[in-house]
Amino acid sequence: MMKKRIIDFRSDTVTKPSEGMRQAMFDAQVGDDVYGEDPTVNLLQQKAAAMFGMEAALFCSSGTQTNQIAINVHVNPGGEVICHQESHVYKYEGGGIARNSLASVRLLNGNRGRISPQQVLDSINNPDDIHLPLTQLVSIEDTSNRGGGAIYDFEVIKQIRKICLEKKLPLHLDGARVFNAFEETKIPFQEYGAQFDSISICLSKGLGAPVGSLLLGTNDFIRKATRVRKVFGGGMRQAGFIAAAGIYALDNNLNRLSIDHKHAKILEEQLQALDWVAEIMSVESNILILSLSDSVARDEIISKLKEQGVLVSAFGPQMIRFVTHLDITESEVAQTCDILKKIV
Ligand SMILES: *Cc1c(COP(=O)(O)O)cnc(C)c1O
Repeated sequence: MMKKRIIDFRSDTVTKPSEGMRQAMFDAQVGDDVYGEDPTVNLLQQKAAAMFGMEAALFCSSGTQTNQIAINVHVNPGGEVICHQESHVYKYEGGGIARNSLASVRLLNGNRGRISPQQVLDSINNPDDIHLPLTQLVSIEDTSNRGGGAIYDFEVIKQIRKICLEKKLPLHLDGARVFNAFEETKIPFQEYGAQFDSISICLSKGLGAPVGSLLLGTNDFIRKATRVRKVFGGGMRQAGFIAAAGIYALDNNLNRLSIDHKHAKILEEQLQALDWVAEIMSVESNILILSLSDSVARDEIISKLKEQGVLVSAFGPQMIRFVTHLDITESEVAQTCDILKKIV
């Protein structure tokens, strides 16, 4: 019997390495990366740093690890991180800001996961007031996951950067899906690189690698980050096998992200026509978040879709998330549209 094909929209992390990627992993030259001797890891790090015009990069096991390392390097115990209240660094990293760095957070609310320059300015504590935690980092997320893949206007990023420079504050980018933002803004990567003191990028999301994220910054920053990675237990040995997948991903999977965005737009169009869908956050990249009308139950919709082989994520009360990625084809998107039409 033929196995029923599952169309998995739960996340862009569910992809499996392609044949070409597997071959690249198989062929990888490796060494002990804790000694700095893995040529494939070194190549990946140099490649990523150069892409963004940054001095150096560090290969890590996950985007949580790169974010947490960055926060740990930038912030001292008792210091404060400014970020959006829905940001991954705060909401989805297990309280790591407090647990790993003994730091405080200033949580801001803003349109679809984004914060404004004025909000940042208003949230920086006066360092001469001993009552207040010392503001030590601003962190933004682009694209925003909880914001349904919303993309920052690059002018806004530049204004936030200007404020940070004036206030002598480092600016971190959680760029787990920044390549999806680039696909739409078409602004050169290096112009983004110039705006941030540190950037985290994920190879295991839309780029389709099985494991791995990179932290980018100055030589001095990456030297400190390498120490923190070791302390966090993230020093890896023959990591070239997974780094090879990352190199393959950067070489082969960047130019196809527009396909995922197109697929998300097709789903959006279909969903807009359904009366059990109350509202959709307008699609900007590869994420679609919708809220359901009160006439249907979220978990019932999710399980009915599952019966038809379509997997989606619950994303809050009466909310569902679809994420498109390289393991979903155009015909599977069309199939999903047909299923959606008949589900209620
Ligand atoms: C996925 C993701 C990360 C990193 O997640 P890991 O699973 O730890 O790799 C970081 N930030 C955002 C916005 C993400 O979506």
